[in-house]
Amino acid sequence: MSFAQEEIKNRVREAADIVQVIGESVQLKKAGTRFTGLCPFHTEKTPSFSVNPQGQFFHCFGCGESGDVFSFMMKYHHLTFPEALKDLAQRYQIDLPERKMSKTDRKRMHEREQLYLVNHEAAKLYQSCLQSEAHGKEARAYLTRRGVNQEFIKKYGLGYVPSPESGGWKYITSRLQGKKLSITSIEQAGLAVKKERGGYYDRFRDRVLFPIFDMSGREIAFGGRILGEGKPKYMNSPESMIFEKNRILFGLYQHREAIRKSRQAIVVEGNFDLLLLAVHGIDNVVAPLGTALSRSHVKSLRGYCDEVVLLFDGDSAGFKAARRSIPFFLSEQVEARVALLPDGHDPDTLVREKGALGIRELIKDALPLPEFVFSALVREHGLTLSGKNKIMQELSSLVREATDPNQRELMAAHFSEQLGVAPARLLSGTPELVEPKPVPEPVPGIDRGRVPSEGIFFIAKLPRKQRQLLDFIVLYPEYLEDLLLGGLADLDCAPPLLTVIDCLKELKTDGVVMPEQLLSVLPENLERQYFADLLMRGGEDDTDTTQGRGVCDELLVWLKSVALQRKSADLQEQLIAAGQAGDLPLQLELIKKKQAIVKKN
Ligand SMILES: [Zn+2]
Repeated sequence: MSFAQEEIKNRVREAADIVQVIGESVQLKKAGTRFTGLCPFHTEKTPSFSVNPQGQFFHCFGCGESGDVFSFMMKYHHLTFPEALKDLAQRYQIDLPERKMSKTDRKRMHEREQLYLVNHEAAKLYQSCLQSEAHGKEARAYLTRRGVNQEFIKKYGLGYVPSPESGGWKYITSRLQGKKLSITSIEQAGLAVKKERGGYYDRFRDRVLFPIFDMSGREIAFGGRILGEGKPKYMNSPESMIFEKNRILFGLYQHREAIRKSRQAIVVEGNFDLLLLAVHGIDNVVAPLGTALSRSHVKSLRGYCDEVVLLFDGDSAGFKAARRSIPFFLSEQVEARVALLPDGHDPDTLVREKGALGIRELIKDALPLPEFVFSALVREHGLTLSGKNKIMQELSSLVREATDPNQRELMAAHFSEQLGVAPARLLSGTPELVEPKPVPEPVPGIDRGRVPSEGIFFIAKLPRKQRQLLDFIVLYPEYLEDLLLGGLADLDCAPPLLTVIDCLKELKTDGVVMPEQLLSVLPENLERQYFADLLMRGGEDDTDTTQGRGVCDELLVWLKSVALQRKSADLQEQLIAAGQAGDLPLQLELIKKKQAIVKKN
């Protein structure tokens, strides 16, 4: 970087308020001379992310991420350095001299800028069509009927594009080309669609259009709602270099202050639902853009609120979407609840009939998301034996979707209690309940870990870490002893893993174990093919043949953290008991012990 560039960089850094810039994406609280919040780069429950306004840098004590305002912009918003510099310079009104950039950087930046420009110009054209053109008359009347007045049309930048009969096939394309914007950029922005036999036509026709803003207030895409009835009801811009659907929530830009204030975000399915709720005074609302809620969505909401309420109608699409988002909420530590709309209603119709109060009451009674999913499954399958099995299957796959082992165990504990089964069943992925059978006489020398003779256990369904353990000890039996001493002996293992451990222990008494010997002693009901394949491949996935020691050490670290979690859960139980008994000294002692564990972990 040349001296002049360094100079510019320093000027921008000095002008930019790092607390303001980061505060747009992360909820920050003042703590002495610093600001702290939940780290946006890793998942955490208690804040370890700190912003230092004097030094103009941020640092996370949890994951070690740190840097200045530029590195934050680059990492959080996925920008290149020149883009971050330009963005901040613009925002703080510092003129940038033309700098030397690599050719690809310059090209990429130029293309992105063209897309912003196309969307911005299109938004203005759509707006003026709605506001003042004869074509917009019907749309104006439609919005007025729905109670959407000028104030809201302006606030959301609403626009309209005419129907094909009124020139809607080329409405925006020809006007943007008239402003010397290239057809390539117009197509890349998703506003024009290429015809098979040459030429272009407009993607959006006869729709009320909502510009979609990024968090710096730039138009990056559009959401269109059909005027009146018709299909598809909603249509959005396709993804582009500046628009990723699973990162953007419609309304977050306009509503971020309201969400921050209420500490709550309401998620609705459609843009129009969001608009109508806002018209009725409920403005802590966002809407995903035709996709299910993603982990990034939940992450971006986490910066603004503690709780998310999903407002859905009772059809199965809404239920499926809610179910899929459970692991994200759990792993991002955001509370989620579900408010189900009465039959035949969407938020738009309900708020018109019952007003804001009706919506608020619905939200007040919203069920926690896991409970909601559970009761919906009970309604669907019933609580007969076969119903329970179906529920177990669905819940078990749900539990195993959670990436965080802590959360997996929490979910398993939660659901298994409601179903009256052992949590291990939900974790192991072999949740099938069977009619109770007479218990067979225990075979001497075989302990609790033996696989029952009926049914095959599917190793592929083992929790990831347990499967890694299983693969590892099969390929490297010489480390079994280390792992057993390091906590494996106390781990609540799923049956296939237990069986393998037992078999290896038995073999071990005969001297050194070769992995291949295992095949000769495995019981019939384990997937023998799995082991044969594993030995053939030599464990190419998780276990590199040259790194037995390294993998073993990793597994030991994991075992240790599981043991600490278990200990912490035990202490929690004792703590509750001590609390109920009113034994304050014991409570204090237990809290100390618990804190020591948290530190170690
Ligand atoms: Zn972090």
